[in-house]
Amino acid sequence: MRSSSLRLANFIDGDYSAPRNAHYLPVFEPATGHTFAEVPASHAPDVDIAVAAARRAAPAWAATAPSERARVLRRIADEIDARAESLAEEESRDSGKPVSVARSVDIPRAAANFRHFAAQAETFASESHDGEARTWNITMRQALGVVGCISPWNLPLYLLTWKIAPALAAGNTVVAKPSEVTPITAWLLGDIVRHAGLPAGALNIVHGAGATAGAALVAHRDIKAVSFTGSTATGAAIAAVAAPQFKKLSLELGGKNATIVFADADFDRAVSESVRAAFSNQGQICLCGSRILVERSLLPRFREAFLAQVAALRVGDPRDPHTQIGALVSAEHLAKVESYIAVAHDEGGRLLHGGQRVRLEGRCEHGYFLSPTVFDQLDSQCRVNQEEIFGPVVTLTPFEDETQAIGFANATQYGLAASVWTRDLDRAQRCARELQAGIVWINCWMARDLRAPFGGVKASGVGREGGLEAMRFFSESKNVAFGYGL
Ligand code: NAD
Repeated sequence: MRSSSLRLANFIDGDYSAPRNAHYLPVFEPATGHTFAEVPASHAPDVDIAVAAARRAAPAWAATAPSERARVLRRIADEIDARAESLAEEESRDSGKPVSVARSVDIPRAAANFRHFAAQAETFASESHDGEARTWNITMRQALGVVGCISPWNLPLYLLTWKIAPALAAGNTVVAKPSEVTPITAWLLGDIVRHAGLPAGALNIVHGAGATAGAALVAHRDIKAVSFTGSTATGAAIAAVAAPQFKKLSLELGGKNATIVFADADFDRAVSESVRAAFSNQGQICLCGSRILVERSLLPRFREAFLAQVAALRVGDPRDPHTQIGALVSAEHLAKVESYIAVAHDEGGRLLHGGQRVRLEGRCEHGYFLSPTVFDQLDSQCRVNQEEIFGPVVTLTPFEDETQAIGFANATQYGLAASVWTRDLDRAQRCARELQAGIVWINCWMARDLRAPFGGVKASGVGREGGLEAMRFFSESKNVAFGYGL
């Protein structure tokens, strides 16, 4: 292991500062397996300082005109655009994702999040109700105060800003806790918001492990709401602490999403999008379609075309612009995903592709690379088809008819997303109604309109992000009733 050169800091009250205990955690470059930075291992005292700064900043930011908040958010977006190339390179180095993905997806989306919620700040409106009980009712929407935003490692800046932007747009101040596994772009965000003119204390970023920094943030009595994206197990632990304190909670959790391909689908698009849904970001997107259900009559042709495209995917150095599959995020995560490959063998699965590490030469010889992996002949109830693997491991399963396809798709504890491939509009509508998922894509995958609600059902979470839903989550409604006095 090489020594790290970069020491990150918390961003509190408009300035970078070291954690009180001066403890740090190593940050690894997944492509090389070497540490290249260290991130503060913050504890409750650091969270206390950050929350205090956010509290001091809260009244002025809540009183700032929405158009002025929007102006600052747009300047943050402009700063992200101006630094897009270096942010993409850092995101790729930190997470192992291909730099082409960071360039085309992660960083543009982070800027888009701020622009979208700048527009929301300016247009957000509430209702009035007149005439009943001789009252004229206005619904006020007020900022909550200080809110906590906790994000995972798979889309680091993308998901962190997806929370921060609406929280600020609605007039709250924020204490954010990014993933300790991928902290670099969150660290850089401090400088970005400072340059953009966000008032000191409006956004505070505290780094550290979930069990210490994250847990302290959730438990802090001055945190009025927690917006969390991460695993279902962590979501449950957060709810157990936050619910008795009656904090508002938005939980975006795990998924085990189905891609359903009917025999009448546009074959070429269904195949190529199923491959993309399966292996984008090394399968480390909560929306990835890891259970590919194919109508039996189509399966032989689909399997052949699907496997040919999977075999052509280029696994390689994330820095290489031609790489399509980069490194998994950590040695621990690689070991977890490999353990599921072993389970798939134990459960009687037939390996159709991959299943092994990819050994690269040169600077990436110790990186965490795994070949895209496809199994079939696994029962819909087996562990590999039930548990979230969150890596490049998928299954192909035949179905006989629409009823069975929907039954298989719904037969997990999760309910985040599904994608359906068919040319039959009636069937598409029936599937959309019957699928137990927060998002149903018809003839597309991961097509996101930021105004649309985003979130899952069942063990995939509670609450919705996106557009108005996020503005409502990050504000409290108050009914003010004017009596007519008649
Ligand atoms: P994780 O739950 O381990 O960690 C997520 C964040 O929570 C990290 O910042 C972590 O430090 C923090 N954390 C951990 N324990 C905590 C605690 N007790 N209190 C407060 N904070 C705590 O998840 P991960 O491994 O970083 O991310 C992968 C998971 O995220 C997968 O399950 C994936 O499906 C899910 N995910 C969901 C969505 C969605 O929108 N539904 C999007 C992306 C990822």
